[in-house]
Amino acid sequence: MTTEELYEHFLKNPIISTDTRNILPGCIFFALKGDHFNANEFAAQAIEKGASFAVIDEETHAVNDRCLLVNDVLITLQDLARHHRKQLNIPVIGLTGSNGKTTSKELVNAVLKERYKTFATFGNLNNHIGVPLSILSITSDVQIAVIEMGANHQKEIELLCTIAQPTHGIITNVGMAHLDGFGGFDGVKKGKAELYTYLKETRGYTFINRNNPYLLEMSAAAGLNKLIYYGTENGNSIKGTLKSSDPFIEVEWTNHDISSFVKTNLTGSYNFENILAAICIGDFFDIAPEEINNGLSNYQPKNNRSQLTKTENNTVICDFYNANPSSMAAALNNISTLTADQKTAILGDMFELGPESPLQHKLIVKQATESSLNQIIFIGKYFYAFKDEFNGIFFEAPAEAAAYLQKKQIKNNLILLKGSRGMKLEGLLQYL
Ligand code: ATP
Ligand code: MG
Repeated sequence: MTTEELYEHFLKNPIISTDTRNILPGCIFFALKGDHFNANEFAAQAIEKGASFAVIDEETHAVNDRCLLVNDVLITLQDLARHHRKQLNIPVIGLTGSNGKTTSKELVNAVLKERYKTFATFGNLNNHIGVPLSILSITSDVQIAVIEMGANHQKEIELLCTIAQPTHGIITNVGMAHLDGFGGFDGVKKGKAELYTYLKETRGYTFINRNNPYLLEMSAAAGLNKLIYYGTENGNSIKGTLKSSDPFIEVEWTNHDISSFVKTNLTGSYNFENILAAICIGDFFDIAPEEINNGLSNYQPKNNRSQLTKTENNTVICDFYNANPSSMAAALNNISTLTADQKTAILGDMFELGPESPLQHKLIVKQATESSLNQIIFIGKYFYAFKDEFNGIFFEAPAEAAAYLQKKQIKNNLILLKGSRGMKLEGLLQYL
């Protein structure tokens, strides 16, 4: 079956499913394979549950003519998305970076939807499966789309660009994330710069934080010329000043003509650059300053990314969605500047750092123990390795920390709770 033929089916039933637990009547089921599953085995079940077709790549599972046999289901899904994208004559903003992708994507969407019918990646669906699924969710009434692109190795952003075909792009920043898969920090820069290369080749527009020397270096190396800058100095399309971040971010900004001010519900000084990015993109797409401010001030973070939460006994910065050395350092800097009588950091191990892992954990232990925080609790085997070298409270596993917190009962503290996803630090919130 050709992509065009499959697309004919898709136009009649424009709903995709990859999970038999979520089959909507008439959907097309894509039988993907993972490390631990082979959805070809569920094709018959998907059709029984109401899928109009099941796209499979193993002939033995072709139980009836509703099973569409292809060479490779994943590539077929990506090709279908690529084909759909070509039919959509709209701007697509491709967004990547080491930190702040989802937050920036949400903020850009909050601003753009003040004036346009927008589509933005749901949640964090930003990989080789999530991006095609996102693209295939864009309906013909959408006027502008924001697509988050994640990567943990080279050539991934390049592939995602061929699917999303961004007309505009932004790298939020480059940092110490996924060092293992990318091959160190230079590898991170190289991998993320694939978006710049794509935009150069397709003559797309690029939004750049002029305060970030790495991004400037990468954009110069890619030979980009359709650039729109934001930053803290004059001479940028958007100039912003961080007026407060204690605890919520307030920004004064100007687009040359008008000065404006916005108070947001985001905490964390690092979110200042995410907010400026959203202002810059909104301004570029002719959203008026008051609409930009409206979109930003109405945005309420609900996703455990720097979310300020009042518990019975404490105020907790819930930042346990993920962590890497750059975002951990930024979060520690941030809590150090906030006003509170007593401050605690509860930090979980950071994953996917490869050979640099010990050094990166040591640097965070050093930063945390040298900070003005009253108490620091480290959790996980990577942090635990430094228990004899630094002062602090160290636990090998979250369960031990839970027992400690239950007994200790921290009260009236501002607490930073942050670690990699796999540490599941959300389990500790009940003891805070
Ligand atoms: P993922 O790789 O999981 O998709 P992401 O890039 O989408 O992550 P977010 O989910 O927006 O990032 O934010 C995750 C955490 O990263 C935040 O809670 C915060 O601690 C940190 N963070 C967000 N923005 C920045 C930034 N601009 N600089 C440094 N750290 C940031
Ligand atoms: Mg994300």
